[in-house]
Amino acid sequence: MNYISTRGGTTAANGIHSADAIKQGLAGDGGLFMPESIPEITMEEIIALSKQSYPERAAAILGKFLTDYPAEELLSYCKSAYAEERFPGGAAPLHKLNDTIHVMELWHGPTCAFKDMALQIMPKLLSGALRITGETRTALILVATSGDTGKAALEGYRDVDQVKIMVYYPVDGVSKMQKLQMATQEGGNVNVCAIHGNFDDAQTGVKKIFSDPGAAAELNEKGIFLSSANSINWGRLVPQVAYYFSAYCDLLNAGEIKAGEQINVAVPTGNFGNIFAGYIAKEMGLPVKRFLCASNKNNILTDFLNTGVYDRNRAFYTTMSPSMDILISSNLERLLFLKTGAAETASYMKQLSETGRYEISASAKASIDRDFTGYFCDEEHTAAIIRDTFDIYHYVVDTHTAVGLSAAEQYIAQTGDTTKMVVDSTASPYKFASNVCRALTGDDTPMDEFDALERLSQVSGTEIPAPLASLKTKEVRFTKVINPCDMRAETLKTSAK
Ligand SMILES: *Cc1c(COP(=O)(O)O)cnc(C)c1O
Repeated sequence: MNYISTRGGTTAANGIHSADAIKQGLAGDGGLFMPESIPEITMEEIIALSKQSYPERAAAILGKFLTDYPAEELLSYCKSAYAEERFPGGAAPLHKLNDTIHVMELWHGPTCAFKDMALQIMPKLLSGALRITGETRTALILVATSGDTGKAALEGYRDVDQVKIMVYYPVDGVSKMQKLQMATQEGGNVNVCAIHGNFDDAQTGVKKIFSDPGAAAELNEKGIFLSSANSINWGRLVPQVAYYFSAYCDLLNAGEIKAGEQINVAVPTGNFGNIFAGYIAKEMGLPVKRFLCASNKNNILTDFLNTGVYDRNRAFYTTMSPSMDILISSNLERLLFLKTGAAETASYMKQLSETGRYEISASAKASIDRDFTGYFCDEEHTAAIIRDTFDIYHYVVDTHTAVGLSAAEQYIAQTGDTTKMVVDSTASPYKFASNVCRALTGDDTPMDEFDALERLSQVSGTEIPAPLASLKTKEVRFTKVINPCDMRAETLKTSAK
C-alpha cells in the first residue's frame, strides 16, 4: 500500500511505502501522510477478531495498513508491546458505567495515559522501518508535547538502538506529575527541555526545525535524520485504530450489541489524532453512527464543527485538562483531505498559516456533519462531572475523560439516543490527582501532588499506579528552560552528544 501527502506533493504515482512514511513522519510538502486508500474489513472479520486477544486484534488491523512489514513481525511487536507486564489489567478494557455508556480505559500502560497505546509499539515500527529501508543513520525523534506524548515517547524510545529522542514541553503548560515524569526520565539517548510559551509554540518550533533544510544538512553530516513521534506520524495513528475494533469486539462478547449494530463514540480531543483514528475505523467498516468531539474551554473544534470556520485567533486557556489545551489540531488536516481532497486541503492549510483562519465549503461541512458533532465543557462543569460520576457510579475519572463524559451526556440529553456509547478514557485519574481530588472533595487548599495521590487512593479505594508512586524518589535529570527561538540551536547542540 502506498502513502501520499494530504497536500498533494506525494501522489499515488510517486507515493512511498509505510516504512518510509513512518521513518519520515512528515511529507516533504509539509502535509501529512495518508494511505492512498482505506482498507476494508467485513463483519465476519470483526466477529473473528472478537475471539482473539488484544495483541492479535491489533496485529490484524496494523497488517491492513503496514503491508511492507511481515505479518508475523507485526504480531510479535504487538505481543510484546501489549503484554500483561506493560499493561496490567489489559490494554483497552471497557468499564460499563450504565446501560448506554461504556468507558474504554486506555491508560493501563507504563505512563498512565493513552499515548502508551501507540508509543509502546511505535519504536518497534521505527526500528523495523530502519531495517526495511536499509537506513544506517541515527533517527532523532523530535517531540513537542502538551504533557503525555513526551513521557510516553521517552519511555517507548529509551535505549532503542540507532535512535535519539529530544522532547520539548511548555514550562507552565503541563501538570506537576507530567513535568516530574519527564524530568526524571532515565535512558542514555534521551533529552528533555522546557520552553517559555504554550504547546502551540512548542509544536510550531518543532515543525520549523522539520522544514529547515539547513538543519537537516547539518544533522545529516553527523549521520542523523529527523523523525517524529507526534500524531502527525502515521505510525502513531494506526495502532490507535485497533482499539476501536477491540471495543466493538468486547461489546459483542458481553452481549451488549449484536453484530452489525451501530455504536457512538465520544473522544476527549486535542490534536484530533485519537478521534481521527476512530473515524478511520469507521471508514474501514466499523459500525459507528456518530463521533462526539469533546473539547475543554479551548473549544476551537466545537466552533469549527458548528460553523465550518476554523479560527485560531482567540484566547488560549490553561485548563485542568492540559493535554487538550491546543489551538492547532494537526490531524484535522487528514479529515479535510478525506472529505475534500489534496488541493482544497492545501489551500485551507495555506490560509491557516497565513491568517490563522479558514472556512470550509458548504459541501465539506455537510460531509463532516454526517459523522461528527462537537461539544465542550468548561472547568466548573469538568469538576462537576468528576464528582457526579463518583457519587452515582463510584467510578473515578481524570479531568480529560470527564470532558468526554460531558460530551456524551450532552448528546444523550439533546437527542435521547440510547445507542451504546464508547467514551475514551485517556488518562488515569492519578495522573491529575490534585485536580481530581479537588473536584471530589470540594476542598480548594493547595495540595502537594504526592499527598494528592494518597488522598485520592483513600477517597476512591483504588491503588496508586506503581509508575507514579515511584516518582517521589527518582532523581531529577532535566531542568533546562529556553525560549522557542532557541529550539533549533538546542536541538543541533544536544544531538551532537
Ligand atoms: C493527548 C491526550 C488527549 C488528546 O488526544 P489527541 O489525539 O491529541 O486528540 C486527550 N487526553 C489525554 C490524557 C491525552 O494525553
